[in-house]
Amino acid sequence: MHVAILGAGPAGLFAALELAPHVSVTVMEEGSEPLKRKCPVASHSNCINCSPCQITSGVGGAGALSDGKLNLTYKIGGDPQSLRRTPEEIQELINYIDEVFLKFGADTDSYGVDDTSLEWLKRKASSSNIEFISGKQRHMGTDRTRMIVSHFYEYLKEQGVTFRLQTKVEDIRKRDNEFVLKTTKGNITCDYLLAAPGRAGAYWLRTKANSLGAQSKYGPIDVGVRVEFPAELYTSIEHVMYDAKFHLYTKTYDDFVRTFCTNPHGFVTVEKYESFVLVNGDARKDVKSENTNLALLSRVELTDPVEDTTEYGRSIARLANTIGGGKPILQRYKDLIRGKRSTWSRLSRALISPTLRDVTPGDIAMALPNRIVKNMIEGIERLDAVIEGIASDSTLLYAPEIKFYDTSYVVTRDLETQVPRFFVAGDASGFSRGIIYAGVTGIIAARGIIRKVNTQ
Ligand SMILES: Cc1cc2nc3c(=O)[nH]c(=O)nc-3n(C[C@H](O)[C@H](O)[C@H](O)COP(=O)(O)OP(=O)(O)OC[C@H]3O[C@@H](n4cnc5c(N)ncnc54)[C@H](O)[C@@H]3O)c2cc1C
Repeated sequence: MHVAILGAGPAGLFAALELAPHVSVTVMEEGSEPLKRKCPVASHSNCINCSPCQITSGVGGAGALSDGKLNLTYKIGGDPQSLRRTPEEIQELINYIDEVFLKFGADTDSYGVDDTSLEWLKRKASSSNIEFISGKQRHMGTDRTRMIVSHFYEYLKEQGVTFRLQTKVEDIRKRDNEFVLKTTKGNITCDYLLAAPGRAGAYWLRTKANSLGAQSKYGPIDVGVRVEFPAELYTSIEHVMYDAKFHLYTKTYDDFVRTFCTNPHGFVTVEKYESFVLVNGDARKDVKSENTNLALLSRVELTDPVEDTTEYGRSIARLANTIGGGKPILQRYKDLIRGKRSTWSRLSRALISPTLRDVTPGDIAMALPNRIVKNMIEGIERLDAVIEGIASDSTLLYAPEIKFYDTSYVVTRDLETQVPRFFVAGDASGFSRGIIYAGVTGIIAARGIIRKVNTQ
């Protein structure tokens, strides 16, 4: 029995780990092996034609060149209910994934485990009607993450997993009882297919899956800004939880707003897509900046008759890029509040320097929908009670930051689509939003495949 896994991100790697002792496994990956992955352009912000993008493609997936913040709680990065599992069942899988990362060299230090300081932070947040999502975290660090993934990759090869690297799957067809994958290096057939192409491959997969008969649904997207401020403002929180998550509902619209992906002493980065650029952030263990950044995001869900959140998000990104002349927009908080665009001259009066400079100083209010801008301002004002000083004049805002988790599939409890023997996992499936949950879904799908193989 032959199983092909499409994508060597965390979902694909953890699926391969489960499947290897039971069936023959081939992993198809358009990028390179971990130690050969390197963005050729410093800071990634000026790269234009790197295809596939080294940041999001290759063994280890989108997370392999990041700083690898592992959220080790079922409360972050996915939802047990949507996977039809109890929190305890998901936590058990997360603990197992953590053990695997530790075995391959992850730092044994963790955050979010000291009850007294967690209680302090929870109280501080609650007093402003903000929910603090606590949970254990591990921070692998950019360089270490690459090594850990490399050890994982070598181990899988020893277990008999075949990797076809620099091999892009261009089409998926069904022929009798098998799938035929048309790749840049010829056709491959398999009895079972597990598709985990990540966020970058999500829309391509949606088109292919729909044409095979798998039904998909639109999910919400998160739209907002990357907020950058002096690192000292976050120091007391960083000791409690490296990447603390805060959730709130805004006063005006009662919209859900959350912080996400906090990078103490980190850098704001650019994420390139075919027709637009977005902002993101990372933190490195070797190089530190004087700033901390976090994503502040407002949830957008559309209902009948316009449910296409993908197109809505893309339209926002394109508009923001038009205003920014093809680059992200940077604005001082003071300028946003006063209704003025930022200029380099105004930015020079801020107390901090931006860590991303390939940007256009401008006006975020011209680029994002008014409702989102209002949610951002209310969010920052409320967060000021927890991250004291974040609502200061000098705080820097970069836009657009958009998280497209907008496609999910009609699946069984084992993540099998309506096309028999065609399984989905990871961020492209709509059931994960991070390294750990991507791994969880990979394991769930792989165990589903093993069960099905054994009963046939
Ligand atoms: C800059 C950055 C920093 C991040 N930092 C963190 C973090 O600190 N913590 C965290 O939890 N999450 C982080 N994330 C998110 C995390 O990386 C993803 O949630 C996770 O990697 C998703 O795993 P996945 O296996 O679903 O997909 P991916 O990791 O995206 O992997 C999919 C793989 O499929 C391959 N692929 C796609 N299409 C094809 C095709 N047609 N043919 C062949 N191969 C294909 C891609 O090349 C890719 O390697 C970060 C993401 C980015 C971009």
